[in-house]
Amino acid sequence: MTTELETELQTAARRRRNFAIISHPDAGKTTLTEKLLLYGGAIHEAGSVKARRTQRHATSDWMEMEQQRGISITSTVLQFEYKKYHINLLDTPGHQDFSEDTYRTLAAADNAVMLEDAAKGLEPQTRKLFEVCKLRSLPIFTFFNKLDRPSREPLDLLDEIERELGLQTYPVNWPIGTGDRFKGVFDRRQRKIHLFERTKHGSRAALDTVMELGDPRLEELLEPDLYSQFKDDLELLDELWDELDLDLVATGKMTPVFFGSAMSNFGVELFLDAFLDYALKPSARKSSAGELPPTYEEFTGFVFKLQANMDSRHRDRVAFIRVCTGKFEKDMNVTHARSGKTVRLSRPQKLFAQDRESIDVAYPGDVIGLNNPGVFAIGDTIYTGQKLEYEGIPCFSPELFAYLRNPNPSKFKQFRKGVSELQEEGAVQIMYSVDESKREPILAAVGQLQFEVVQFRLLSEYNVETSIDLLPYGVARWVDGGWDALAKVGRLFNTVTVKDSWGRPVLLFRNEWNCQQVEGEHPVLKLNAIAPVVS
Ligand code: GDP
Repeated sequence: MTTELETELQTAARRRRNFAIISHPDAGKTTLTEKLLLYGGAIHEAGSVKARRTQRHATSDWMEMEQQRGISITSTVLQFEYKKYHINLLDTPGHQDFSEDTYRTLAAADNAVMLEDAAKGLEPQTRKLFEVCKLRSLPIFTFFNKLDRPSREPLDLLDEIERELGLQTYPVNWPIGTGDRFKGVFDRRQRKIHLFERTKHGSRAALDTVMELGDPRLEELLEPDLYSQFKDDLELLDELWDELDLDLVATGKMTPVFFGSAMSNFGVELFLDAFLDYALKPSARKSSAGELPPTYEEFTGFVFKLQANMDSRHRDRVAFIRVCTGKFEKDMNVTHARSGKTVRLSRPQKLFAQDRESIDVAYPGDVIGLNNPGVFAIGDTIYTGQKLEYEGIPCFSPELFAYLRNPNPSKFKQFRKGVSELQEEGAVQIMYSVDESKREPILAAVGQLQFEVVQFRLLSEYNVETSIDLLPYGVARWVDGGWDALAKVGRLFNTVTVKDSWGRPVLLFRNEWNCQQVEGEHPVLKLNAIAPVVS
């Protein structure tokens, strides 16, 4: 028999869609986010998301904005309602902010939108984030942006995805011309043409003119070469891509592809509607107690991000938790799996506080922010009912390495405490030289910002001034089989061995090329770009 709670959970899960946007800086993520929010009626003017970015730390503005607009905006999740859906857009910070948080956010996402600049195609950051999505088999939806500017050939763009990411494509819509000659897109779902009209920076949902495929006005509208190209494309589309396979989409093997222009708000609604139809709703997750569906009646979730309050007067941290099953209710008592302690979830995070309804309850697929009572670490599970744990969140290969030095011996204790707390919190990975005489920690990060944050926080929270000494490495690999396996292969060239915080060996290389060379010379050595999860 279905209980009332089960029905409630089922309804909530059915309505929820949760996703993150992966892209390279400048592809238009801020612009697209803004346009998506317009459809949800969550914001009424374009420019608000931009404003948010520049005032990132001015929390009061956020609270005011949330009050006015009735939405929850934090640097981590944007929530909005559209049609029958409740949408959670998990924000992955932009490039200046590139850090491990960007990877971790994907652990809380059910779907990813891969945004590419149609003039550039695949770019480095997108590739890296794609790899993380691939590990989790996340469904990926591709949006080619900036069609109002000269773009690469659509076929060429799709081919690049297929070849380089090993991901099958399925164009859901198709562009007619690009740049000055961009005339619109053909929507294959409705078999209709949406005409693009240039307006001044469409700040509102653009009125787009729709035409049937067979409409004779089309031939008049398009220049002869565009018209004949379009007719050829139509044939090609049906020949090469006859069917969208939703099972392949759901397992991240096929990506539905869209074309448009976020800035002029063209193609965004078409994209959003199709995305909501095809995207995965919150579904079952693996745990130590087996696969748990969202309708499992006990509350469970995991911490995917910790954020320190940048205001030095308050040392509180916010833990962001992805709700996986059951219903979150304010003030509930949960068990913290790692420590076994009971924690009362009584102080839902301030940023959500304006809109009390949004934090009093939360359902699978939602993200809640809680003031960190100190016990939470990245990857921790919390639950009610029977004991269980979700898989931890892995550490990804850092790309920047530096010795962190404390020039003042009298500050040694604070330095050590600060470094260890920041490491536990997941602000940065810490490694150590195997040479006992070198006691300084090596900071290992995926973005420069992480170094800056560590130094800033050591100074403001622990009162320790530090200096940084960059190391000439760019690639880290964990060794399968640990020290024993490493001992068997003997001396390695062009690499240095260090230990991570768990004492496991990590090989550092200057570049991918050196890494591949070592792999080639020692086929028995199995190297991983992702650290095995410690449980
Ligand atoms: P982000 O770094 O990915 O968040 O990119 P932004 O949203 O800040 O966009 C980067 C730049 O590209 C800005 O100058 C935008 O105005 C511009 N841009 C974004 N979308 C489009 C588009 O569809 N067409 C054109 N021509 N420019 C765009």
